[in-house]
Formats: sequence, C-alpha cells, structure tokens
Amino acid sequence: MNYYFDNAATTPISERALEKYISTSRNITGNPSSIHRQGTQAKEYLEAERRRIADTLGIQPGQIVFTSGASEAISRVMESLLWLKNPGAVIISKIEHEAVKSYAAILKDRGWDIRWLKAKEGHPSSVDLEKLLSPEVKLVAIMSVNNVTGAITGIPELVATVRNYEKKTGRKIVFFSDSVQALGKTELDLKGWDVDCASFSSHKINGPRGVGMLYIKNRNFLHPLAAQGGQENGLRGGTENTPGISAFAEALVELYENREEKDRKAAEVSSFIRNELETAGFEILSKAPCTPYIISVATPLPAEVFTRMLMDKGFCVSSGSACSNNAKGKGEGTLQSMGFPARLGENAIRISLAENPDMESAKALVEAMKEIADAR
Ligand code: PLP
Repeated sequence: MNYYFDNAATTPISERALEKYISTSRNITGNPSSIHRQGTQAKEYLEAERRRIADTLGIQPGQIVFTSGASEAISRVMESLLWLKNPGAVIISKIEHEAVKSYAAILKDRGWDIRWLKAKEGHPSSVDLEKLLSPEVKLVAIMSVNNVTGAITGIPELVATVRNYEKKTGRKIVFFSDSVQALGKTELDLKGWDVDCASFSSHKINGPRGVGMLYIKNRNFLHPLAAQGGQENGLRGGTENTPGISAFAEALVELYENREEKDRKAAEVSSFIRNELETAGFEILSKAPCTPYIISVATPLPAEVFTRMLMDKGFCVSSGSACSNNAKGKGEGTLQSMGFPARLGENAIRISLAENPDMESAKALVEAMKEIADAR
C-alpha cells in the first residue's frame, strides 16, 4: 500500500484534467497565432479557457499571463525590478519560497536595498511591515500561505498597510503575493485583497506540470518575456501550451466544486492528525491561522531519517522543505526564521493532504509515526 501525503510538493493529475489534456491535444491542433481556421479555432478555445479561469478566480481574463509554472511567474515579477532605471528598496518576507528569496542576492548585487520582513510562526505583522516602508520601497513580496507550515499570512491587512502608506506619500508600491499554496487551501480573493500580482501553479492542484499563471492587475509594471512573439498580450512570447492550459482550467474548476465539503473533510482529518500526534508527544509547528491541508510536525529524529522510515512503511511525506529550509550553510531556514529552534526545524517533516483526504489513510499514518517514535 502506498499512502501519499506530499500534496504541497505536487499532486497527481485528476482524471478530468487528464481527459481534457488529451481531448485538447487531439482536437485543437492549430497554433493560436495562425490566421487560418485551425489557428482561429485554437485562439478562441484558448481565450475561452482563460475566461473560465478568470471567472473562477473573480478576475479579468486580461489580467492572466500563462507561464510554465509558478517559478516563471515569480521570475517575471522579480526580474521586472531589474529593468527599472534606478534601484530602490524591496521588502521580502523571511518565509518566502526559494523561488522568491533567491532574487534577494541578485537585486542586492544590482544596488537594491533588501528589507526582510520577519514572520513569527509564519505570520508577518502589519506593524513590522509599516516600519520597513519608506519612499524608496518599490515592491513588497509576501506569500499568501506558507509552503512549509501552511501558515496563512493575512494578506488583506498587509495590503491595506501598504495602500495607506501609498495614500500618504503618493508613491506606488507593487504588492506581490506568491499564492501557490493558497489555491484550494484557503480563501482567495485577489480582487478584494487588492494585490498587484500573484503567482500560481497547476501541478499543485491536480493539473498538469509545466503550467502556471501570473495574475497581474496592471500590466505597466511587468517587463515582458520574449515580447517579440506577441503572445499573452505581448507579455510572454512563445506558442501557448493550449492542452496544458485547458487541463489547468479543468483542474481549477474541479477544485472549486464542493469546496465547503472538501474543506470540512480536510479540517476533520487535519484535526485528527494534529490531536493524535500531539497526544503522542510530537510537536506541531503549524500555528493558527493556518490551512488544514499542511501540517508541519517536529519528530524525535532527523527529518530525513524519519521520512525514510515512513517511506519503508509505505508513506510519502516531505522532509524536503524542512530540510532544504534548514540546510546548513545556506543561512537561516524557514522554520528558524519563524522563530522555531534549529533543532525542531531539523527534525520537522511536512504532511500535506490531498484535496479530498480520507480518514483511514490518516489513521494509518498516525499509527506508523507512533510506531517509529516508540521504537526509537
Ligand atoms: N511558490 C511556492 C509557495 C511553492 O510551494 C512552489 C512549489 O514548491 C513554488 C512557488 C514553485 O512552483 P512551480 O513548481 O510551479 O515552479
């Protein structure tokens, strides 16, 4: 038996998304840029899929730029800064995914002032954010849900802090929120939150790999990728991945179906895992407010050892995020930057639930974890 509890790393493609991928590949054969019938058919199809995604997320179709994944979407935002005439300051939360954080060194090298926003237990405060704001700040990057613990960062309040500052100073600040782990794991309201841009990934929501998207409220800020192709409104050149995009749209629509029931089930399974593990002496590092779909647990053994022992019993969990985020010599890890002691970080594994988790698998996982801890 194989139990998969690593859905924050990636998810299996759903049957519906896979069927959509196959049928689009088979039936929509033209290049959306071609002017013949097959081309215009592909273009119409692509735009209908863009609309489907926009409607589901409550945004405008023109605010979507399809990419190869979230890392590319993130790179478009962060690299756009490098094209600005004068460097300024950028605020980055300490708990960002490496895809965002890695731009700090590049920007610093180009004369940017990097201001790190702390986030105790994964929750940045608007008071701390306010202290970092100054007229030099051009962008604020704060993720919506953390990928290691599932902490919900509180984007609406953080954006409001930035918007208030903008009103006082009359200067525009771009608010970017990497929202990969928010999709389907917590409430998401891009328009209501008033973020300027947000990144998403298809393979985290049972869609295919190699597809992602950037939400961009106002395209003025964005420096295009291979603009000469003209695709994606001139923001990202290259023939569109029509089958991948249509399968992503399908996965997204499916994700939002029966949402309340899925969330109720996830909360039930998550509470069960947390309570059982806590009673057995494990320490839970996912602190409220956090999504039920991600649980960070400090084990009595180094994370890699515990993960391998669980694997021998047929369970897939992640030590990766915890480990790489605590990698020696790579600076402070995510869990450490949240204020957890280094020892807990080194022993922490991540359990991440499927969008439709089942209790029987959760019971089996908890038993396996207790057995490993007891045999030590
Ligand atoms: N941002 C977060 C929060 C993630 O969890 C991930 C994936 O691990 C990424 C960005 C990168 O996503 P992708 O694999 O689509 O490039």
